[in-house]
Amino acid sequence: MSDYWNNRVKNLSPYIPGEQPKDRRLIKLNTNENPYPPSPKVIEAVKNAADESLRLYPDPECTQFREAAAARYKVKPEQVFAGNGSDEILAFAFGAFFESSQKGYKDAPVLFPDITYSFYPVYANLWDIPYKTVPLRDDFSINIEDYKINSGGIVISNPNAPTGTPLPLDDILSLAEYLEKQKKVLIVDEAYAAFGAQSAVSSIDKYPNLLTVHTLSKSASLAGLRAGFAIGNEKLIEALCRIRDSFNSYTMDRLALAGAKAAVEDVEYYNEINRRVIATRERVTAALRAMGFNVLNSSANFIFIKPPKTSGKDFFAALREKGILARHFNKERIADYLRVSVGTDDDMDKFINVCGEITGEFNANNTK
Ligand code: PMP
Repeated sequence: MSDYWNNRVKNLSPYIPGEQPKDRRLIKLNTNENPYPPSPKVIEAVKNAADESLRLYPDPECTQFREAAAARYKVKPEQVFAGNGSDEILAFAFGAFFESSQKGYKDAPVLFPDITYSFYPVYANLWDIPYKTVPLRDDFSINIEDYKINSGGIVISNPNAPTGTPLPLDDILSLAEYLEKQKKVLIVDEAYAAFGAQSAVSSIDKYPNLLTVHTLSKSASLAGLRAGFAIGNEKLIEALCRIRDSFNSYTMDRLALAGAKAAVEDVEYYNEINRRVIATRERVTAALRAMGFNVLNSSANFIFIKPPKTSGKDFFAALREKGILARHFNKERIADYLRVSVGTDDDMDKFINVCGEITGEFNANNTK
């Protein structure tokens, strides 16, 4: 706290990102980065962009990247918004589509699950947007009927995070339809959709209130580049531009624009590495289940696991001790779970072995 902070800053509760450890020997399975490198075409494009043109501002409309994304997803460039990672786009979208409780407005709360991406409540607080969390079922699935109430809008991550649980497209569209009648927006965060969930992109022409949000951080191996995009009706995209242009006209720099364009164009390379991630995920899931872990079915590039007979916190600490970094959320309902990103086959073999060792050690201690 400081006397110089205004009330807005005093009342913020910022998101805490997963650790980026300095110790490179750790096997890093804590922030859902892709274990494979970006496409060589992306590296080449970024290198080629590093020339004297950096003297000039980048294209504020991000035209070439948006055109490439539009071609890839079979939509119009005017239906694509480009941004500095999907976190930024989500922040803009909360500001653009959900009503703030300030200035006398009283809208119904925005809805999202009690267990989901923990940035959503942070954005809501930043913009003074009232929100209500809706409990997942006991098996961590979403019951869409719970969302069919008067609301200020809905945010769903598909697949959900940190559980990896997908929601069928029919359910997403049923929510879009319901909200359309109330003239409210449905934001579908598809950060991990490339690893196995059904995308809602092909329905944006049917539902003018449906915004899908995408990132290049996970499926395009570009967490370090900071690039994302949203797809939706032209009017939704225009609203996002109005928010952006009230903050910063140039959210994507020349290097990021060049790399992002090359990434959305190289479908073949990314299909191949993501196919490998999915195969590894299934193999690790089976191996852990055989060792007595509860592992949720995942459609993402991470798994959500509950170790046998140990608290999530202790298991996290034991993994770290043995050089593996996972993610533990000290939160009701999921405190006994860990989220583990899917790494290379080598890394995951080490992970499986270490899980076996730790489980054995806990068992031995318990029977002493
Ligand atoms: N949505 C979800 C569900 C995520 O897990 C993340 C990554 N933390 C993001 C959005 C943001 O990704 P980025 O800002 O790297 O595009």
